[in-house]
Amino acid sequence: FLPHLVASMEQVDQTYIMIKPDGVQRGLVGEIISRFEKKGFLLKGLKLFECTKELAEEHYKDLREKPFFPKLIDYITSGPVVCMAWEGVGVVASARKLIGATNPLQAEPGTIRGDLAIQTGSFSEVVFALGLLKPCKESHSYGKLSCRNVVHGSDSPENGLREIELWFKEGELCQWTQIQAPWLRE
Ligand code: GDP
Ligand code: MG
Repeated sequence: FLPHLVASMEQVDQTYIMIKPDGVQRGLVGEIISRFEKKGFLLKGLKLFECTKELAEEHYKDLREKPFFPKLIDYITSGPVVCMAWEGVGVVASARKLIGATNPLQAEPGTIRGDLAIQTGSFSEVVFALGLLKPCKESHSYGKLSCRNVVHGSDSPENGLREIELWFKEGELCQWTQIQAPWLRE
């Protein structure tokens, strides 16, 4: 029991964190990176990137059936994103806590979404569900009918690895040791 517990506590995960187009446009890149950096996680990969519709669709393939899927893809492809791979003990779960709830209106103060975002978009899903409005191309640049919440974080260690592989090419990740490592981990 105990060795199993200790082993699970010490599991080193990797997570894919992405600053979404609203985070980049609003000048929040430094602020958001800083939260993960200060926590002590290890940065393995980092780039500013304009993603294709195909990549965005593959990344969010589990949400394909959702009513907001078209505008989610419009939103993610509406400007550059910052792609990051972070490593650490329990980094997937920790990063989700640092990021906060999906809906910024419900995200706790102290979290990235709680501190740095207000609403995903101006119109609720009900409007789309009732067919009163179709997701429209024109909306995408400012995310008016959008899914804005400034940042993405993988929801499981498996998805962390899957997403890092999807967004980074070979040779784009670094193997290195932080000078502070012995102060953070046994
Ligand atoms: P996350 O893991 O917290 O990012 O949330 P999900 O994986 O469930 O959804 C992916 C992204 O789709 C979210 O970060 C939002 O950008 C968007 N999204 C999810 N649910 C909703 C919703 O109910 N309404 C809108 N407008 N966007 C949503
Ligand atoms: Mg998710």
